[in-house]
Amino acid sequence: MASKFVSVAAGHTAAMREIEQLAHGKWSPGNGGRELTVVNPRDDEPVTRVACSSDEEVAEAVSAARSAAPGWSGVPAADRGAALRSAASAVEAAADELAAIMSDEMGKPVGEARESILAGVGTLRQYAELGPVHRGRSLAGDPSATDLMTFEPRGVVAVITPWNDPVAVACGLLGAALVTGNTVVHKPSERTPATGWRLVQLVAPHFPAGVLNLVNGDGPVGAALAAAPVDVVAHVGSSATGRAIAAACARTGAKALLENGGCDPLIVDAGVDPRWAAAQAALGAFANAGQICVSVERIYAHRAVLDPFVAALAEEAERWQSRIGPLVDRRLRDAVDDQVQHAIKAGAVIVRGGAAPAGPGAWYPPTVLAECTDDMAVMREETFGPVAPVAEVDSFDEALARAADSPYGLAATVLTRSMSHAQRAARVLPTGTVKVNAVFGGAPGGAAHPRRGSGQGFGYGPELLDEMTATKVVHLAAPPTGW
Ligand code: NAD
Repeated sequence: MASKFVSVAAGHTAAMREIEQLAHGKWSPGNGGRELTVVNPRDDEPVTRVACSSDEEVAEAVSAARSAAPGWSGVPAADRGAALRSAASAVEAAADELAAIMSDEMGKPVGEARESILAGVGTLRQYAELGPVHRGRSLAGDPSATDLMTFEPRGVVAVITPWNDPVAVACGLLGAALVTGNTVVHKPSERTPATGWRLVQLVAPHFPAGVLNLVNGDGPVGAALAAAPVDVVAHVGSSATGRAIAAACARTGAKALLENGGCDPLIVDAGVDPRWAAAQAALGAFANAGQICVSVERIYAHRAVLDPFVAALAEEAERWQSRIGPLVDRRLRDAVDDQVQHAIKAGAVIVRGGAAPAGPGAWYPPTVLAECTDDMAVMREETFGPVAPVAEVDSFDEALARAADSPYGLAATVLTRSMSHAQRAARVLPTGTVKVNAVFGGAPGGAAHPRRGSGQGFGYGPELLDEMTATKVVHLAAPPTGW
C-alpha cells in the first residue's frame, strides 16, 4: 500500500494524514484537482489532507467493482462470511488507532470512539454469521415441478456515509453488501476521510482485488458516484442529500436505500418524575454532542411537570458540559447557533447555554431553550448539536398531534406512566421507531422503515440482507416424459 503519513507544516504538533483512494486493489492519490483539509474540531489543527477523486476515478472504481462482481458473487456464501469475519478481527485489532483518527477528525472523545468502533466490529461479525444463512423459500406448485424464491446479489453497491458515527455506520452497509456477494464502491464523509480510508485499508485485503473500492471527497464526488452505473446507492446522511440521491437513482434505475435525518420528538407526560425525565431528555439531546440521527430534537412537556422538568434539565445540561466533545466543525456550529439565535429572536427563552464560546475549535455548550413554538427551525428542522428546545403542552393528545406533525419520521420517545398513552403513541406516531420510557436502547437486530424525509428501506438488521439482494422466482417444470 502506498498510503503514507507525512509531517505537517512547522508549528503543528500532530502528524497530518494524507490519504488515498482504492480501485482494482491499487492505492493511488486522487486526481480531481481539489484538495480538502480536515481540522481537529478541538483546536483547529489540521489532521487530514485529502485529494478528491475525479469523475474518471469514480468511474474507474465503479468499473473495478463491476469487473470483480461475477467472481465475488460466485464465491460460496460461507467463504464470504469467513472473509468478513477476518476483516472484523483486523478492525478490532486496530480499534485504538482507528479511535484516535476518528477523534482527531470529528471530536468524539477517544473512549466513545473506541466503543463505536467495537459496535461496528460486532455488526461485521453479525453479518458474517447471518450472510451464509440468509435463505430463500420453496413454493408449493405442481408437485412435479420445483418452484423457488431465491435471491442473488444486486451487483455494485455505492456506500455513501456520514461522519457522526463513521465506522459503525459504514460497517453495517459494507458488511451486508459484501457478505451477500455484492461488490462495493465506498465514499466516506469528507469530514472523516482518514477514518474511512483506514477502515478500508483494514477490510479490503480480506477480499479479492476490486471487491471493495474507495473514492474520496465531498458532495460532488458523492453525486458522481450516485449518478454512475451502480445497482444500489446506500446513503446514510442528511435528508437533502437523500432526496438528491433518490433523484439520481430515478434516472439510472439504481435502487436507493436511504437512512436520513430526523427531528425526533420527546413527550414528557403528566405524572412522570421530572428529574428522571430530565435525565432522559439530556441523554437524548446531548449525547455525542447532539450529533446522532435519533437525538432528541424537540420536547413537548405537559404543563403539570413543565417547571420542575425544565429546572432539572438545566442542571443536567450543566453536568453534560464536561462530558461532550466539540461539534464536528465550525460550519455545523454556525448552523446550530443560527437556529438557536432565530428561536431566541422568535421568543424562545434561554435557560442554559445558547452561545458559542470564543476561542479555537467548534465547541458549543449543552443548551436548553424554553417557550419554544413549532414554527421555529429548532423545533421543525434537525438541529445537529446539543440543543434541547422545550414547548409546553396542555394535554397528551396535543403532544401526540404536535409530535406527529413533522416532515421527518425517524423515531420518537414518550415518557409516561400511562399504559394507554404508551400504546396509543406506539400506534399513532408516524415514525420508524417508537420508544417508551427510554430515549435509547432496544433489542439487537431491530430494523425499521424510516418515514417521510427520514429515508426509505431497511438500513440495519437482518432485513438489510434482503435489501442488498434481489429476489427471483424460479419455476422448474418437469421435463416431458420420454426425454
Ligand atoms: P450528508 O448527507 O451531508 O453527507 C453524507 C454523505 O453524503 C457524505 O459522504 C457526503 O459527501 C455525501 N454527499 C453529500 N452531497 C451528496 C450528493 N449530492 N450526492 C451524493 N452524495 C452526497 O450528511 P452528513 O452531514 O454527513 O451527516 C449527518 C446527517 O446524517 C444527519 O442528518 C443525520 O441525521 C444523518 N444520519 C442518519 C442516520 C440514520 O440511520 N438515519 C445515521 C447517521 C446519520
